[in-house]
Amino acid sequence: MAIAFYPGTFDPPTMGHIDLIRRAGKLFDEVIVGVAENREKSPLFSLQERVLMIDEVMKESENVRVIGFNNLLIDCVREQGADTILRGLRAVSDFEYEFQLAAMNRHLDPGIETTFLTPSEKYAFLSSTLIKEVASLAGDVSDFVPPQVLTALNRVYGSK
Ligand code: ADP
Repeated sequence: MAIAFYPGTFDPPTMGHIDLIRRAGKLFDEVIVGVAENREKSPLFSLQERVLMIDEVMKESENVRVIGFNNLLIDCVREQGADTILRGLRAVSDFEYEFQLAAMNRHLDPGIETTFLTPSEKYAFLSSTLIKEVASLAGDVSDFVPPQVLTALNRVYGSK
């Protein structure tokens, strides 16, 4: 039984995140999406909202589970009995930070590997930050977020 733990802020979840979760669902017996509270990043959406949004989008996928967490990632991975940490690589710009993170997590627990997946090219330049920027200026982001997230963004920024 191979279990992947996919941590992130998901503020908000984008089609890039969903694309990665779907790919992982085909590779692993179970995928646990770990939504980090990340208070220091002052997320736009509450932890509960972020968990619910992913939960709703992935509700048909029986091997995907969504949880919130606010402790050290590696401790949460161990608590959940996961075998690997899943992270996404978009452009080369992600590489340095992801490499540091993977090295630190390996230092903290050499038994847990980090696995990287890349999204479909159409989502390769997509980030939650960019989505918020465009949506806050009333730009159309409907191709890049699930409908539930679009509704939530319209609620926050006012629909067009
Ligand atoms: P974090 O604050 O941990 O970086 P994010 O929610 O921004 O949280 O991202 C979580 C993970 O998903 C990271 O590994 C990031 O590289 C990956 N990711 C974010 N956007 C995309 C995307 N468009 N395609 C593939 N992976 C992505």
